[in-house]
Amino acid sequence: MADLQAKLLIIGGGPGGYVAAIRAGQLGVDTVLVEKDALGGACLNVGCIPSKALIHAADEFYAVSRAASGTSNTGVRGLGASIDFSQTIAWKDGIVRRLTGGVGALLKKAGVKVIAGQADVIDGKTVAVGNGAQRQVITAETLLIASGATPIELPFLPFGGDVLSSAEALALTEIPRSMAIVGAGYIGLEIGCLYAKLGATITLIEAASRILPHYDEDLTKPVSARLKQLGVDALIETHAKGRAENGCGLIVEHRTGEQRLIEAEKILVAVGRKPALSGWGVADLGLAMNGPYVQIDDRCRTSMRGVYAIGDITGEPMLAHRAMAQGEMVAEIVAGLNRNWDKRAIPAICFTDPEIVSVGLSPDEARASAIDAKVGLFPFRANGRAMTIGRDDGFVRIVARSDNDVILGIQAVGAGVSELAASFGLALEMGCRLQDIAGAVHAHPSLGEAVQEASFAALGRAMHMA
Ligand code: FAD
Ligand code: NAD
Repeated sequence: MADLQAKLLIIGGGPGGYVAAIRAGQLGVDTVLVEKDALGGACLNVGCIPSKALIHAADEFYAVSRAASGTSNTGVRGLGASIDFSQTIAWKDGIVRRLTGGVGALLKKAGVKVIAGQADVIDGKTVAVGNGAQRQVITAETLLIASGATPIELPFLPFGGDVLSSAEALALTEIPRSMAIVGAGYIGLEIGCLYAKLGATITLIEAASRILPHYDEDLTKPVSARLKQLGVDALIETHAKGRAENGCGLIVEHRTGEQRLIEAEKILVAVGRKPALSGWGVADLGLAMNGPYVQIDDRCRTSMRGVYAIGDITGEPMLAHRAMAQGEMVAEIVAGLNRNWDKRAIPAICFTDPEIVSVGLSPDEARASAIDAKVGLFPFRANGRAMTIGRDDGFVRIVARSDNDVILGIQAVGAGVSELAASFGLALEMGCRLQDIAGAVHAHPSLGEAVQEASFAALGRAMHMA
């Protein structure tokens, strides 16, 4: 006999699970959500939000340091820069508490029953939480798995001591003097840039032939240039091999076989994340898999009737906003609405310095899909707003079909471009043509004008470019 019954049972209270729960509750679906750790998942507790808070603090510190050293072009000078890092961490933790508390309140308002504890899957409709006298069995018509992902560990660099995952790297109590970072992807670069600005000596160790291999080289070049300015040593085509014999530092090996010892107070391992699917019975359901990820269809249905999966366990792109959009969709399907995944694009932002935004197809991807495409590019060095914020590196790029000017993709790299992501996504979702963006009045002075100019450029009539 079940202790509790529900129409929808959600495992995991991250962005996927909690959004599904709120939407289901809004639609009157009797919903239970089980979370073993903290509401908000990786995103709010150890991921998106903590990293962006520390990136902001590091930017502030870096600007003050430049003013104090007399190197700011604006003429702003200061007497000195210092940072109370424990206050920085407390400030970051306060933001996390506000947001996770807010999620709890929203779930309550939506009438969702939240159960704290690990869900152990018994079958596709039954889950147990807790042990002994505390054990509670829950049955539901529909099971939604949203258990997220955890950092991949390298066997010769197990997490612990001075070897950190991103979670520990975002919760340090002191700024390390030096940090070796294995993996120059999203996490390695976001955290690497921030600690470099806080004064740490950073060495990136990347196996691929360039940093951020998920993005095309034109987008990553301005980031590489900035890393040089920040004094970051980026070792490419290089693998971590193991600890030095005395336990200090890290031995790395270049493709040519040349080995080097990197002395570092901390080692951050950021070589990707793996779906959290082991140790709690879900693997025994025998769901069809897509590599390491749970296979889903365009409604996030798994191979077992009545069992849905969303978020990081369903594979790339492992992004919070994808998990949320999937969660909202599944909740509506469970409530009886006719929904399927019909999104044209999922924006991606890398919060490096400068930031990178990418939505839809890059020029190379359009070519690889045998689409005849044209490209319009506008550099920020010709954009007034970029100059007035003291950063004119980077550009906006638009990719459109040659035959009808329908926009296939928009990318940008530059300081502050993350806030352009919404307009890029909207343009793709609405099926805009170049003429739609070119014909819309863009406020001056703004970085957004570069988007209009890139459209003009693709139409062969750039206005502010010689
Ligand atoms: P999660 O957020 O991982 O949530 C899963 C939840 O399920 C967890 O709370 C976990 O405790 C719980 N759970 C697991 N198993 C059980 C069980 N058996 N019983 C009960 N509960 C269980 N994405 C972005 O879009 N933008 C960013 O800027 C960004 N920055 C990031 C920075 C870092 C350092 C990291 C690590 C990630 C970042 N991400 C970012 C990725 C983002 O955090 C994830 O894509 C997102 O959190 C995935 O949501 P999810 O709901 O699938 O899983
Ligand atoms: P990632 O896939 O972005 O980068 C991992 C990097 O490690 C790759 O460049 C890979 O070539 C390299 N690598 C792998 N094995 C290696 C080895 N043995 N030695 C040296 N290099 C090696 O993964 P991540 O940075 O760990 O981030 C995980 C996921 O979290 C991302 O895929 C992303 O979905 C999400 N995330 C998103 C954001 C954001 O949206 N701004 C920020 C952080 C994380």
